[in-house]
Amino acid sequence: MSFLVGHGQMIPGFEEEIMGASVGEKREFSLSPERAYGERNEDLVNTASLDDFPDADEIKVGMMGVAQTEYGQMPFSVTEIEGDQVTIDYNHQMAGKTLRFEVEVIEVRNASEEELAHGHVHGPGGHHH
Ligand code: ZN
Repeated sequence: MSFLVGHGQMIPGFEEEIMGASVGEKREFSLSPERAYGERNEDLVNTASLDDFPDADEIKVGMMGVAQTEYGQMPFSVTEIEGDQVTIDYNHQMAGKTLRFEVEVIEVRNASEEELAHGHVHGPGGHHH
């Protein structure tokens, strides 16, 4: 993947670990939850009624969706279904996990002004929207 270093695009710990790496360099590191996606917050686990879902038949454990909330769009996953009670979890799927990375730097280049303005990478390995 391509990414901008030092622009808050990646999780903070990843940026710290990869900062200053040069081409051909390999780095291995682990990030504890506080340096990655944070600890799980049990307040972000809610229950809803199956009737609240437009496609109730399609709701299954492990399914992911996006809810419209007063805070905007929130991705969630369905973690349990009991009767017509659905447990939905708004925690990031990587929350509470220690992540291990093996990174090899294959190219380093300066970001274009447009990329800096957008805060993300364009072209191969990058994305646009
Ligand atoms: Zn762009």
